[in-house]
Amino acid sequence: MKANEVLDNLKRRFPNEPEYHQAVSEVLATIEEAYNEHPEFEKSNLIERLCIPDRIFSFRVTWMDDKGQIQTNMGYRIQHNNAIGPYKGGIRFHASVNQSILKFLAFEQTFKNSLTTLPMGGGKGGSDFSPRGKSNAEIMRFCQAFVLELWRHIGPDTDVPAGDIGVGGREVAYMYGMYKKLARENTGTFTGKGIEFGGSLVRPEATGYGNVYFLLQMLKTKGIDIKGKTVCVSGSGNVAQYTVEKLISLGAKVVTMSDSDGYIYDPDGIDRAKLDYIMELKNLYRGRIREYAEEYGCKYVAGARPWGEKCDIAMPSATQNELNGEDAKTLLANGCFAVSEGANMPSTPEAIEVFLAAKILYAPGKAANAGGVSVSGLEMTQNAQKLSWSSEEVDQKLQSIMENIHGQCVKYGKQEDGYVNYVKGANVAGFMKVAKAMMAQGII
Ligand code: GLU
Repeated sequence: MKANEVLDNLKRRFPNEPEYHQAVSEVLATIEEAYNEHPEFEKSNLIERLCIPDRIFSFRVTWMDDKGQIQTNMGYRIQHNNAIGPYKGGIRFHASVNQSILKFLAFEQTFKNSLTTLPMGGGKGGSDFSPRGKSNAEIMRFCQAFVLELWRHIGPDTDVPAGDIGVGGREVAYMYGMYKKLARENTGTFTGKGIEFGGSLVRPEATGYGNVYFLLQMLKTKGIDIKGKTVCVSGSGNVAQYTVEKLISLGAKVVTMSDSDGYIYDPDGIDRAKLDYIMELKNLYRGRIREYAEEYGCKYVAGARPWGEKCDIAMPSATQNELNGEDAKTLLANGCFAVSEGANMPSTPEAIEVFLAAKILYAPGKAANAGGVSVSGLEMTQNAQKLSWSSEEVDQKLQSIMENIHGQCVKYGKQEDGYVNYVKGANVAGFMKVAKAMMAQGII
């Protein structure tokens, strides 16, 4: 089947899955050339096999809330592709979670993990459970009930889950605790674990730091210094927080952060003390970003995203499709020259088109946010060796992985005029490795 026929075919067979179609369509549009150079791929129907997940588990999760009422949610695990290593990818808890969203994430994860140079396949899981407003006890009971179903499908060499939106250290710990009880083993089947029970140093920081390391690589190609640059960051979760931390330490000025209710604009820049306030607000009190504006007397815009504010660099770090074509045009009009994605698929196809047409530095999430899963891979290595590395060692490895991913993007994405199309570079580099591994292993 030809690459363009595959998408039509998937749309017909899996209707009502727009996010999945969007992720597949972005990749297919960029790998066509590489695909056509290998007629053996078409003969073995490789693209279709690569786009359709190996398997999908879906299950009901039943738990009791604090009022004693019995609640049900849906739980899923998508094992997308394990050609280069065990399925690997996070778990998302959010009211919006459905099969389409998890299929897009598992598909993206497969390419991302391939880029990391570590032996990890792609997977994703989650639930439409919303952690918002839930007590700690409710979170624990839900995590335990979720793992009661999930545990039979995962293992250190088969499928290794981690965190994502709505799942951080607390949730991973509750899930891992239950997993160990059921599986009777201590081999580190989750990553993002606490440091006391097999977690890796720098894992919490890894996605945000990694995104900044990738950005630095892009800026280097143009001889631009990050110091003094104004940056708009969206989100205020794990990824956004450590993106801001690294940016501050490098002398950049971060003027925005957001949550699903709105964004704050601080023209003086978020400094270390203000970031500490946000970390406490979000990680401990689980409050809203609006409270930052009240605390520091700055602007808060309800129900909007920060892309209308003037900046040199934008780092979308909240969620999928949070930056559309109009936002992209506004950013460009305001002088933005670099966009590096901390979230998965935050830019819509229209936005990507605008960035590429303007030939600005634009890094898609599957390259720029791969630092998180990379350190997850390093956590797996440490668990397998039954030892732990220092933060310097992990951070050093993270930096070289991000540099390597950047190198792969340049290798496969550099155009004749010298412009680096990081979307194409990341997709082709990620695709070629998985494709070759699949071809070598036969029709399975
Ligand atoms: N959820 C993160 C991602 O999108 C991390 C996955 C992991 O560490 O396995 O890459």
